[in-house]
Amino acid sequence: VSVAVHDTVLGPAAGYGDAVALIDGVTGARVSYARLDHDHRRIAAALAAAGVRKGDVLALHSPNSTVYPAVFHGATRAGASVTTVNSMATAEEFARQLQDCAARWIITVAALLDTARRAAELVPGVREIFVCDRAEGHTGVPAMLASTAPEPDAGIDPDHDIAVLPYSSGTTGTPKGVMLTHRSVATNLAQIRPLLPMKPGDRILAVLPFFHIYGLTCLMNAPLQSGATVVVLPRFELESFLAAIEKHRVTGLYMAPPIVLALAKQPAVERYDLSSLEYLYCGAAPLDARLAEACGARLGLPAVRQGYGMTELSPGAHIVPLAEPAPPPGTVGRLVPGTEMKLLSLDDPGRCAGPGEDGEIAIRGPQVMKGYLGRPEATAEMIDAEGWLRTGDVGRVDDGGWLFVVDRVKELIKYKGYQVAPAELEALLLSHEAIADAAVVGAYDEDAGTEIPHAFVVRRPGTEPLTATELQEWVAARVAPYKKVRRVSFVSGVPRAASGKILRRELRTAREPRRLGESTDR
Ligand code: ATP
Ligand code: MG
Repeated sequence: VSVAVHDTVLGPAAGYGDAVALIDGVTGARVSYARLDHDHRRIAAALAAAGVRKGDVLALHSPNSTVYPAVFHGATRAGASVTTVNSMATAEEFARQLQDCAARWIITVAALLDTARRAAELVPGVREIFVCDRAEGHTGVPAMLASTAPEPDAGIDPDHDIAVLPYSSGTTGTPKGVMLTHRSVATNLAQIRPLLPMKPGDRILAVLPFFHIYGLTCLMNAPLQSGATVVVLPRFELESFLAAIEKHRVTGLYMAPPIVLALAKQPAVERYDLSSLEYLYCGAAPLDARLAEACGARLGLPAVRQGYGMTELSPGAHIVPLAEPAPPPGTVGRLVPGTEMKLLSLDDPGRCAGPGEDGEIAIRGPQVMKGYLGRPEATAEMIDAEGWLRTGDVGRVDDGGWLFVVDRVKELIKYKGYQVAPAELEALLLSHEAIADAAVVGAYDEDAGTEIPHAFVVRRPGTEPLTATELQEWVAARVAPYKKVRRVSFVSGVPRAASGKILRRELRTAREPRRLGESTDR
């Protein structure tokens, strides 16, 4: 059996025939499995005829759409390594990615063609731009579907050839190109599948972006491999999201914490019939157990289950099995099969953390990336000679083998000799009635001579406006003294990446208080 990603995901597609693979959540248009199978093969043929060769990097620059999976798998079948591009990237950001990975081909959509053109003009090497839909003067996917060229056999070597070259989210620094082989992506699908079985009849809402490895794996590849139906939305907007769940009788949701927050707190949720939902998953960033419970309770479901991973892990390392009736609150899950974990001491990463102690999570397994593209030093810092990948995340494991993620090592706030996890304070703040959203970062306090927790808080409309002092006292009554919030800024929104992560860097560098609609008081 081939372990090329397109064969792994779409191998069973022809057998699912007329079953619905994809539904456009906006227009209601449907794509059958037979159509998806046909289309991706024709796209592969047309791309090969246009000159795409094994190992060429092809940039896929599109919001989520029902065409995206056929284009993605068509490109890998033609032998390309697909670098997925954030559809909200500026031309300059896009150009940086094109340059970094020496992309030769771009597939975009008509609405983003100008951005793609400008990006391609900024760097040498792009041979052609294709479009998924119709645009004047451009070879598009619609024309490719009529191609009579022979289907290529790219001769993929699954252990060496790169299927996907996603860029890490850039939460902690410059986004890095992550080399994922066909083998690592296909293996990770196989590792997750028994724990999170999907099946024909399941309807999964794909609202998180496909360009991020979480969306690509959990919302596109895993359901399509299993004959489930994927309802596709191009972006998260609460009302259309809720309407799509109701209209298409969605059964499973894969989310990031901001969506869980909205489901737990927004009044609009009450106006929709969400009774088709059977289960909820969340990943990508720390999720508070209380918030998860509030969300589950509101939807009449027992739990919001979590998974844990990162781009460098193709992406999954831990998951709460769907069959687990009562996972401990707040856990991100158990290790997936064929994978090892150890916790490294935070004081001395050369040794392991003691029993029950927090430590930096290190993972070894077949889903570990081949490396960062063109960055051997960064790769060596991340993966040691024995194949252990240092995640940069702090975790602890309970007696039952359940992992709990505390926060990122780099985000821990060093207050005097203590370490404060922003995620813990954010979770507490979110449990307050009058708070709609919150983020905490470490700020250096000259007077105190230490880092202090600085909270950025969005007030909840329609509640009694909270003052900074009230908020600080409320927190102080609930945490150990070293964890107190020592500075508060009220802002109109918390900046987040498309994958749902808080952009703490932006909060730290928001020198002009106006920028975030901030009013600072201590
Ligand atoms: P960069 O590496 O470029 O700074 P990033 O780490 O945000 O960006 P991703 O690979 O998208 O890029 O995210 C992986 C990170 O997301 C993990 O290292 C972890 O910090 C966080 N994460 C993922 N799942 C969870 C979870 N269930 N709970 C807490 N954190 C999570
Ligand atoms: Mg990272």
